[in-house]
Amino acid sequence: MYRVGIGQDTHRLVAGRPLILGGVRIAFESGAYGHSDSDALAHALIDALLGAMSDGDIGSHFPDSNPKWKDADSFDMLAHVLKRVEARGFHVVNTDATVMLERPKLREFIGSMRVNVARALNIDVDCVSVKAKTGEGLDAVGRGEAVSAIAMVLLMSKES
Ligand SMILES: [Zn+2]
Repeated sequence: MYRVGIGQDTHRLVAGRPLILGGVRIAFESGAYGHSDSDALAHALIDALLGAMSDGDIGSHFPDSNPKWKDADSFDMLAHVLKRVEARGFHVVNTDATVMLERPKLREFIGSMRVNVARALNIDVDCVSVKAKTGEGLDAVGRGEAVSAIAMVLLMSKES
């Protein structure tokens, strides 16, 4: 049996916060504001996995009100969700994601993001696609006010 899921996430960019995307810490003048380490790509992946299982969303599993997830490593949250996927007898087939950020250019970090995501999802790096886009100077991303990510995942289980 196959299940497909989609996830989307946006964070405001503010001075004095780290910019972490796909588990890669990127040196920049601003970073993503939020409760955890605010890795938008990891959060989009989490929602895609939960969505594929019809298992709620990131807010229901990791509420802002829970101090446990304050400044949490989003890849710990991703690992927690992957355990739920595997507990249901599913594994990830592949994922395709796009990160939207005006600056800095992400090209040089894409390879490391793919490796991190592949490791987290327990799949081959060939099964992980991460793409980067700017906002073309438009909208909150284009004005440099936000970072956004969208991800799709395909899950498969042996049972029909
Ligand atoms: Zn988020």
